[in-house]
Formats: sequence, structure tokens, C-alpha cells
Amino acid sequence: MPRTAVFFHAHPDDEALLTAGTMAMLAAEGHRVVLVVATAGERGLAEMEKGEALGEARMRELYKSAAALGCARVVCLDYGDSGLSPSGGVAEERPDNAFIDADSEEAAKALAAVLDEERADLLTIYDPAGGYGHPDHVQVHRVGRRAAQIAGTPIVLEATVNRDPLIRALRIAGRFYRFPPEFDLRTFESAYTAGDQITHRVNVRKYAWQKRASMSAHVSQASGGEGDRTLAVLLKIPGPLYRLVFGTEWYVRRDLPPGTRLRHPFDEAP
Ligand SMILES: [Zn+2]
Repeated sequence: MPRTAVFFHAHPDDEALLTAGTMAMLAAEGHRVVLVVATAGERGLAEMEKGEALGEARMRELYKSAAALGCARVVCLDYGDSGLSPSGGVAEERPDNAFIDADSEEAAKALAAVLDEERADLLTIYDPAGGYGHPDHVQVHRVGRRAAQIAGTPIVLEATVNRDPLIRALRIAGRFYRFPPEFDLRTFESAYTAGDQITHRVNVRKYAWQKRASMSAHVSQASGGEGDRTLAVLLKIPGPLYRLVFGTEWYVRRDLPPGTRLRHPFDEAP
């Protein structure tokens, strides 16, 4: 029976890196896939100046990515992109409606309204650390968890990365590709989630080209800024290694006992 999955992300392009394969897989299986972003990403690093026009460009890229993945609907909650300080923390200068300054109860209600409307069976959020720690990503965890409570969404999955193979793959990639100086492998050592906490390992190798198409849709994030952006670095990983690294997507479902190993988002027991 077709079900509905809502994927909640902070900015356009986050879906490409974390959940694109799972989204393409569920859509191909006939489920309804809905993509919700908290912000338009108008303060991301890009060749274009930060601001409204960048937000519009990034939303266009998001629609392109969503089309490649087979999404039925895209929603933006219209919070302001909180941006990042040069050191990677909370930016001092932020828009008035910055997502991190939002009342999390109010934001949760806005997301819960979408979950209600969609009668969502599943919601994806982020791990409590917000992956690599962007403040908007931490807020996605908080707001998403609360929204699922309000709407009574039965399955909540924290989209994350198994940091063990990621670090291994980046070390291998570093042998034949020179990473830009600001790309620091060490930041990955405490980011995301260790393998033993992960409950879902979803094989998305069949959907690797769609995941790549989703990444390529976010042109502004792959070409802008000084030096290469993370997305540009990842797109340089050659095909076979790419399928190996991005052939799996990882989730943590907190209401299952640790050590549970499932293969599909809707699986309840091994
Ligand atoms: Zn983001």
C-alpha cells in the first residue's frame, strides 16, 4: 500500500547529500514523497550575492532536484537562512526571521500542519548534532521531533551519515584529488553518527544517477565561493567509488533498540 514520507531539510541541497537516494527509491516504489525545506538557503556560499535573488535561484534548483527524485510536492516554510559565521558557528548578522531564532513550537506547528495535511507515515529529520553542526540543522532536529509529536507521525528517522566509511572514502579520494585548503577532514571525525548507532542502512545504489542528478541541480552551491564547495568536491569522486560511498543512506530511529539493523525506511523489525 502506498504511504507518504515527508523529508524535512534545512536548505536546498541538503536533500541531495543526505536522503536523495531514499527519496528516489520510495517514489519508484509508488509512495508519495514530499520535500520540505525550512529556508530558501539565501545566505549560502555562492558566486551570487547573498539575498533574495540567491534564495529564488536555490528554490529553482530545489524544484529541479525534486523533479529528478520523483517528489510529489515541495514546501518551503519560509524562515530566513541563519547563515554561518566564518568560523562555522552562529552568524552574528542574521535576518529577522532567521530559522534559529524562530520559536521552535511555532515552527513545529507549521511543519505539523504539513504532516497532518499529508497524513504522513514517516518524517525524516537530522541527528541531534545537526550532522556537521550548522545551527539551522540542529534546529531541524528540534523542530522536526516536536512536529512529529504534534501530528502523531508514527515513524521518525534521523538522516545521518555513517562517519566510519565516509572518513575512509575521503582519505582515498584525497590520494588522487587535492582538496581545497578549507576542506578539513578532521571536522568529519566528530560529525554525524558512528556506525554502531545507526538502525537503517538503505541500499540506494540503483538510484545513484538520480542522486547525482539531484546534486548537479544545485549549481549555485557547486560553483560558488572561493575555492571548491563541498558539493563540487563530492561530484569529482569518480563513478565506481561514488556508488560505493553514496550507495547507502543511513538513518537512526530512536524508538528502536540500539543494534537494530534494518534495510528499508518503513521496516519495523528485521
Ligand atoms: Zn544545510
